[in-house]
Amino acid sequence: MATTQTPTNPVLPDFTRWQWASMDERAWWSPLFMEAANAFKEVERLSVLEGVREAAWQNVNTSELIEATQWAHYRGLLVVPTNTTGQAGSYSAQQSQGTDIVRIVYVRPENYAKVLPWVGDHHIGEMLGFPPCCRVAFRETWGKGQVDSTHEQFTNTTGLTYIHTLFRWMGIRTVPHMPCSHNCEQSIALEKSLQMVAQKYGYGEQFRLINEVQGWPVKWSRLFGIVELVSPALKITTRSDWTPTLQKFEKAGRYIKPIAGIWEENGYSNPETMREAHSTLLYSLKDSLPQNARVVDLGCGNGLLLKRLRMHRPDITIGGVDINKTAIEHAGLGRWKVGKIQECQWTTWKPDVVLVTPGRLTEMTPEDAELTRGALASVPQVFLYSYADTLTKGNLEHLATQAGFPHIQMLTKTPLVSVGLVTKD
Ligand SMILES: [Zn+2]
Repeated sequence: MATTQTPTNPVLPDFTRWQWASMDERAWWSPLFMEAANAFKEVERLSVLEGVREAAWQNVNTSELIEATQWAHYRGLLVVPTNTTGQAGSYSAQQSQGTDIVRIVYVRPENYAKVLPWVGDHHIGEMLGFPPCCRVAFRETWGKGQVDSTHEQFTNTTGLTYIHTLFRWMGIRTVPHMPCSHNCEQSIALEKSLQMVAQKYGYGEQFRLINEVQGWPVKWSRLFGIVELVSPALKITTRSDWTPTLQKFEKAGRYIKPIAGIWEENGYSNPETMREAHSTLLYSLKDSLPQNARVVDLGCGNGLLLKRLRMHRPDITIGGVDINKTAIEHAGLGRWKVGKIQECQWTTWKPDVVLVTPGRLTEMTPEDAELTRGALASVPQVFLYSYADTLTKGNLEHLATQAGFPHIQMLTKTPLVSVGLVTKD
């Protein structure tokens, strides 16, 4: 089907609009999408440093050029601006037309000569690690004036769907190029290499999120040059190539709906602040835990904190206790139990590491607190932490002393969270 722009095939100006399925979905996914998109951009340029490919191509605002150049300089790479574009991402349409977006190539100094002189978009495809089959497919679609090759990707696909770029408008993608099909083996190989880079540089969690989103069920349709992409979390409308009849395809998948108020169960009014506090806590803990540690959170809410910690430390076993029955139900199966900390059922799990906020102990009767401290005495590592709300009552050292732990080694102090390790003296 001819879809090139001709006097009889009108093409709309670039546009993309999306809407979330609910306020909870927006609150939960929107910041995560941004985090994932930023992580992908970072991994794209790190892949050059790691030798996964010779070059990375990114669109940056003129104001980001200095950071990009310095980032490259400190890693022995070069940044070569190649051209200007009105688009924010390689194939995205999130920015208005203009010349303030600069396309840059991250490259090793020895490969610099292959980038310039710039003779059009296609000549560095190989350096960018784009598989030959995908480069051919690109030339046959975009190269001939198309503005979208999603339908061709789908029609080239046989069997199961593994890889796609359906959420590229949101910055969610696992490869930087448009794969020729949803099961292009070479694209899948590049995806795996990028995931290893992500893991190495601490973006494993964001890449897991990208994979989760890629696994959502999707319904795609197109008519008269307008695409509708519907997933359980959001609907995207964007420009495509003009077609006279309705085309559509569906991709099966799995979607886990964020539970309304899941962040409230953990004591936060919005998911963003919760994630930020959890992130700070995670980063101070993840390298302090012994291998294969059994980690228990006393007052675990729905277990989100430890579930994230396990993404960084897959070797650990996690569990927790909370008095909130609904939160524990949301934590799911495994070692998540409803109960009071002072009942000390959790000691049967023989934890190597316990996390607890000092406030839990000061809320108890002195007898219960004494009992709990006794149980904690046999745990090799006890981490105390406090979030912003309780830190207004005093710093963590002060709160820890009140809870009967006069000796702690401080690990992290931020306005959102403080963390310390209980020591004997
Ligand atoms: Zn391919």
